[in-house]
Amino acid sequence: MTAEIIDGKAFAARLHQRIAAQVAAFAAAAGRAPGLAVVLVGDDPASAVYVRNKHKATVAAGMASFAHRLPADLPRHDLLALVDRLNADVAVDGILVQLPLPDHIDARVVTTRIDPDKDVDGFTPENAGRLATGLHGFVPCTPLGCLMLLKDRLGDLTGMDAVVIGRSNIVGKPMAHLLLRESCTVTVAHSKTRDLPDVVRRADIVVAAVGRAEMVRGDWIKPGAIVIDVGINRTEAGLVGDVDLAGALGVAGAITPVPGGVGPMTIAVLLRNTLVSACRREGVPYDKEAL
Ligand code: NDP
Repeated sequence: MTAEIIDGKAFAARLHQRIAAQVAAFAAAAGRAPGLAVVLVGDDPASAVYVRNKHKATVAAGMASFAHRLPADLPRHDLLALVDRLNADVAVDGILVQLPLPDHIDARVVTTRIDPDKDVDGFTPENAGRLATGLHGFVPCTPLGCLMLLKDRLGDLTGMDAVVIGRSNIVGKPMAHLLLRESCTVTVAHSKTRDLPDVVRRADIVVAAVGRAEMVRGDWIKPGAIVIDVGINRTEAGLVGDVDLAGALGVAGAITPVPGGVGPMTIAVLLRNTLVSACRREGVPYDKEAL
């Protein structure tokens, strides 16, 4: 068996097109473009690249991008004051504070300060609670992007056995809640899980979000399983995921590559969430099915 490669880049490109069409319709109805504010504190090179890519994609979709680049020694209260201003700014529909923040600033305090209705990253406790309790809210971009790829490939996920490896608030936990919402039987594995290979072998769906290069081996995977590799690991051989792609190719039914799988989905979903926020705030209808 040779697994199908799930082309996240192509899927994200199609989503970008549908978003851009709805952004134009929103702008015509509301008399303004949806606005996304991105806050970068410090000079972490990877974060700078992410922020630049988000800015480019926002502008390409026809949205307004408000970039705030701030020094690493910014006092915490100044950052909170900026979040307060963005919360109150009517032109801003989405607020994203790029993580990680410098050590002297507690990311949880900053995240919690963001208006939940502008929290397009879905990181506030309010939105985590909405997801956990089945209310409408914003869902973190990476897991929502993973779910879109899964539904595109599988359609109905009801009754499937899903294993999520990783329990972070950003990826693992929201991914587990999304899969539960789709009526999967969900197992969340983490660093203390006993016999991880055996746990993974039970899964029809594997989502790996660990941050350890090629940890998930081909012989851990149930034949025909769908594997979503969230990991981004920089190695001497280049960028690799959490799954041994070469080993998994012979066993899995389909797998996302790294790069070109989950990564491109994250920014596309960020723009989707920003558009949805703008539509909700202005009372402009949008085509949910297309997003
Ligand atoms: P975190 O470091 O916050 O979480 C990693 C999780 O993996 C933890 O729950 C940890 O368990 C678990 N873990 C660590 N070692 C093992 C092990 N040996 N066996 C089983 N589980 C283990 O990472 P994130 O969730 O933020 O990110 C995960 C990966 O996804 C990273 O590579 C990151 O770069 C990537 N990523 C990619 C994105 C994209 O756009 N494609 C977006 C976000 C992240 P424990 O809780 O017990 O410590």
